[in-house]
Amino acid sequence: MPPEAAATSSPYTRANPFPGKLVANRRLTGDESEKDTRHFEVDLTGWGLNYEVGDSMTVYPSNDPALVEELVHALCAKGDETVPGNKGQETTLRDALLHDYRITQTTPKFLKAIAERASAAPLLNELLKPARKPDLDTYLWGLEVIDFVLEHPSVRFTAPEFVALLAKLQPRLYSISSSLKAHPEAVHFTIDVVHYESHGRQRKGVCSSFLAERCEKNPVPVFPHFEIPAPR
Ligand SMILES: Cc1cc2nc3c(=O)[nH]c(=O)nc-3n(C[C@H](O)[C@H](O)[C@H](O)COP(=O)(O)OP(=O)(O)OC[C@H]3O[C@@H](n4cnc5c(N)ncnc54)[C@H](O)[C@@H]3O)c2cc1C
Repeated sequence: MPPEAAATSSPYTRANPFPGKLVANRRLTGDESEKDTRHFEVDLTGWGLNYEVGDSMTVYPSNDPALVEELVHALCAKGDETVPGNKGQETTLRDALLHDYRITQTTPKFLKAIAERASAAPLLNELLKPARKPDLDTYLWGLEVIDFVLEHPSVRFTAPEFVALLAKLQPRLYSISSSLKAHPEAVHFTIDVVHYESHGRQRKGVCSSFLAERCEKNPVPVFPHFEIPAPR
């Protein structure tokens, strides 16, 4: 039975995930370690969810507000421009960049638009040739949307043009490391928080940094990746 069918008594769906509460966010690796592995606990009180250790939970992150503001500024926009969201709804550029679109990893259509409009992008033009795909992948490692926008200030996009070049922001999966017997109203995760430096900038993984930095006061939208059993 698909999850939605089994959960008819629950208002929560993939489109309306459960607002979990982050109740623990503890670093497991030492301060001196480059790795930032954390233990997270998300309180699901009131949901009545059944799960097994090893099942996966889908987490629906939003993007880093600081990166969104930097992009809005780099686009010479205000942020309140009207754009289509990823479900076709009307929203503002700022909200769309926060919640609807992937603003880190580039898309082929975004790169193509930059190459077409930037007079000084001969390398990108060359790498976009199909035969150069492996070189393009190497070139793109560690580069994000913001790098291209900053690198080519002469390239102008309207707000709707810009979001049309982005991909939809995807949720992330995490394995549940807790057992229902020990923690009937919560899920625990062990997560490697992604951060690294490239091209002189500090980069952050979208969802792992969302959990690590931005959920203290905001809900963690979650929905199971597994089949929801009948209500307990
Ligand atoms: C079934 C399943 C279960 C999972 N369970 C877990 C789990 O229990 N714990 C866990 O930690 N993860 C788990 N994952 C992975 C998790 O879903 C995310 O992919 C992970 O947390 C990264 O997401 P993010 O949004 O933080 O990073 P993203 O924003 O997706 O960024 C990650 C990307 O950053 C880039 N990148 C990373 N490092 C560098 C670097 N040094 N230089 C240049 N680029 C770099 C790479 O392109 C990488 O793909 C699971 C995945 C699946 C499919």
